[in-house]
Amino acid sequence: MSLTDLLIQFTRIFLPSLSFKCTHDKIRPDVEQSYCPDCGKLIRNEWYITRCSCCGVKMKAMVKNGQIVPQEHYCSNCGGENFSVEKVDKINFIDINFAALKKVEVEEEVIGSTIRCWQERTIELPKLPVLSR
Ligand SMILES: [Zn+2]
Ligand SMILES: [Zn+2]
Repeated sequence: MSLTDLLIQFTRIFLPSLSFKCTHDKIRPDVEQSYCPDCGKLIRNEWYITRCSCCGVKMKAMVKNGQIVPQEHYCSNCGGENFSVEKVDKINFIDINFAALKKVEVEEEVIGSTIRCWQERTIELPKLPVLSR
């Protein structure tokens, strides 16, 4: 079994499937972002881990109702119930055992303003010199 297969299985386990909304299942977890073939939206993969805020030990994270929460209610190290959420920039073999994957829809507005900016630039053509006798 390849790492990609493991990642896909991992995603299926930890992503709750909502019937009324596209869950972007076809987005591979090993890419930073890509377009969903089911709904056409640009989706970014974000990894999160949770830590006990008392002793700092990593707690296995999961996505619940769109929120990142630890799988256990209490820390196995100190029994604390408070936790903090940390975003992982680059997922690695150690963190993948603790991390939860969140698929975030990239805001259309950001893309729209970039296109508008390009258009403004192309419209500005150099003015031809006016010839006079
Ligand atoms: Zn989708
Ligand atoms: Zn703790």
